[in-house]
Amino acid sequence: MDYLTGLFGLSGKTAVVTGGSRGIGQTVALGLAQAGAAVAILCRSEPEETLTQIAAAGGRAYHIAADVADETAVDAALTEVLRRSGSLDVVFNNAGICIHKPTVEATVDEWKRVLDVNLNGTYIVSRAAGRIMIENGIHGSIINNASMSGTVVNVPQWQCSYNASKAAVLHLTRSLAVEWADYGIRVNSISPGYTATAMSVDTPEELKNAWLPLIPMRRMGRPEELVGAVLYLASGASSYTTGADLIVDGGYVCR
Ligand code: NAP
Repeated sequence: MDYLTGLFGLSGKTAVVTGGSRGIGQTVALGLAQAGAAVAILCRSEPEETLTQIAAAGGRAYHIAADVADETAVDAALTEVLRRSGSLDVVFNNAGICIHKPTVEATVDEWKRVLDVNLNGTYIVSRAAGRIMIENGIHGSIINNASMSGTVVNVPQWQCSYNASKAAVLHLTRSLAVEWADYGIRVNSISPGYTATAMSVDTPEELKNAWLPLIPMRRMGRPEELVGAVLYLASGASSYTTGADLIVDGGYVCR
């Protein structure tokens, strides 16, 4: 056994990355492509930069426009992936949004939108992928991008809709892991801490300064520091791991 390419390689596999137009999804899509997978990027905008990066690295990728909260669009998108690539082996459910607002100031519509993208989107994509995997006898791997906010209430910003959505994603992960174990489909999650992307970098400086002393490693993570965790869960290296959450947060939830 060549442990490097044999265990972590994805050659001949097809991976779907939701929200791959920027941030964590963009970097992980590149990592999956470099590991040998053909990558389908599902997001609303054209992920030009991601496609260019993957092509420059000698990888294969294409875009399918879809809102993860739209069941009809997602079903059509994953059917198109199966038609185009002949398989659907890995799904990285990464599309997500966050709204910082005190609960009494936020609207019910804002609550619903966050739950719709983060939780319902993860459910809708997983359901469509699970169906294809079961029907085609594919022993796939689904990886949900949760958050440390699904385990702890990180402060000082108020984001109860986000925290609740990510806690639900963690239990959805465990529920599907048990339900689909007999089909050879594994379902796991990663829980990033503060990671330098548009979602966290565009936040006000004083908020970021409040975060750093609470992180044992005293810095934010970089998207590329999540690639190893996803490759582990996507590949044969984690063949006996299902229902697990891999926390990548510089030690935040330990305190
Ligand atoms: P980001 O830079 O804001 O990127 C979000 C991605 O999601 C974009 O590609 C966006 O593409 C896509 N997206 C948003 N709504 C969508 C929808 N309805 N349908 C399809 N795609 C949608 O965010 P990020 O920081 O990389 O975060 C990615 C994931 O990591 C999220 O689930 C987030 O909760 C999680 N996370 C982030 C951090 C952090 O500190 N950054 C920490 C923990 C967890 P389009 O706009 O083109 O659709």
